[in-house]
Amino acid sequence: MRGGTVAVVGGSIAGCALASAAARAGADEVVVLERTHGRLADRGLGLCIHDGRAAELAATGALPTGIAAHRLTRRSWVVRDDTAAGPAGRVFWEQPFLFHSYHWGLLWRGLRAATPASVVYRQGAAVTGVAGAGERAEVRLAQGTTEAFDLVVGADGYRSVVREAVCPESRPAYAGYVCWRGNFDARRLESLGDGGWSPESVTTVCFAGGSCVVYRIPGPDGPRVNWVLYAMPPQTGRLPFNDPTSFPPGQVTEELTAHLGALLDREFPPYWAQVIALTDPADTFVQPIYDLETARTTAGRLLLAGDAATVVRPHNTSGAAKALQDATAFEDAWRRAGTWDELLHAYQAARGAAGRELVALARRLGRGQVEQPPVWATMDRREAESWWQGQLGGAADIGGQAMTP
Ligand SMILES: Cc1cc2nc3c(=O)[nH]c(=O)nc-3n(C[C@H](O)[C@H](O)[C@H](O)COP(=O)(O)OP(=O)(O)OC[C@H]3O[C@@H](n4cnc5c(N)ncnc54)[C@H](O)[C@@H]3O)c2cc1C
Repeated sequence: MRGGTVAVVGGSIAGCALASAAARAGADEVVVLERTHGRLADRGLGLCIHDGRAAELAATGALPTGIAAHRLTRRSWVVRDDTAAGPAGRVFWEQPFLFHSYHWGLLWRGLRAATPASVVYRQGAAVTGVAGAGERAEVRLAQGTTEAFDLVVGADGYRSVVREAVCPESRPAYAGYVCWRGNFDARRLESLGDGGWSPESVTTVCFAGGSCVVYRIPGPDGPRVNWVLYAMPPQTGRLPFNDPTSFPPGQVTEELTAHLGALLDREFPPYWAQVIALTDPADTFVQPIYDLETARTTAGRLLLAGDAATVVRPHNTSGAAKALQDATAFEDAWRRAGTWDELLHAYQAARGAAGRELVALARRLGRGQVEQPPVWATMDRREAESWWQGQLGGAADIGGQAMTP
């Protein structure tokens, strides 16, 4: 099928990838409607993409070449041990971790730069509603105008307006815990001297009631250290975690900052507590963990991709890869389809179940690493390996599923 007009609501990771896919597949007109103004570069920190997924996505063109990425090879699981281990704690397990880490802003810029010139990328275009019955789909913009297209793609993230029309019954569900996130210039590590730092390793610090991953990412001005710490928030009832909005950098409350400090003192090996403490308050933020699954990814002439279709808890390390896989499946469905209906059916068949399986796996990982963790203090390699297999529950690995088995 060739020709046709497509609007993509949201111009982030999924939006750029889906717009590029539509243009490559032969759409006459592709318009991205992104509500923010200026660069989207500051809204995320580090993320990782599994090497197997990245190779597949590079081969299909969904992951452009030349985007800065840092190679990781292993994951060290560490627990505080005041009796025998040194300040970096006891490493109870090392597992292979074949991922590359990315800086969100640099990944977005690479995807945006690779978007074909024919794609019209409109900023300051906030969509307030969509309708997709019949042969056309309509978007309503905040300024009050309505525009019609052959297809509207919802790539508008976890609070998707398009999802409201496709799957109004789906609501983000709070996992009951939050993450503190931060990042800083990796040169600051020099002030700590020799410790447990290894640039190719992801370190997972385990403690009663949570865990924290720390790893190196590329950055616009050189390597950075990125960390994500999952734990219950203070149980004071004062924190509004009834929607997935985060406390952005510089706006984390004193209560949340104090809670993090106490947790580091009490639970962390001293070296890793010092690493986290190298972060400026202005580069720290707190985000409640939510997830969401949808019964369908298409309805009428509407289609969902990326976090608009499925929000997976981050333990799975799969969100960006899944968004780019959605773009690959969309392009593939388009090229094989003779009609819009065939395209929409093929996309739903390829992506519907994949999203739900990722949500289920990430819930198991969240339960095992935050809600009901094992007794880390006594764990050894053998126990850890068998615990991990239980977490996977038959899945091949974290990082998302292979597109070609
Ligand atoms: C703590 C954490 C760690 C993570 N770690 C990883 C990791 O290691 N690996 C990984 O692969 N993924 C990770 N992810 C997930 C990953 O960041 C996302 O899954 C991925 O970026 C896909 O995002 P998206 O483009 O679908 O949505 P978003 O990035 O949310 O983009 C949605 C876009 O739509 C725009 N928009 C929204 N509403 C409207 C509207 N009404 N009108 C117009 N525009 C609109 C927004 O401004 C935004 O630009 C992590 C997520 C979190 C929270």
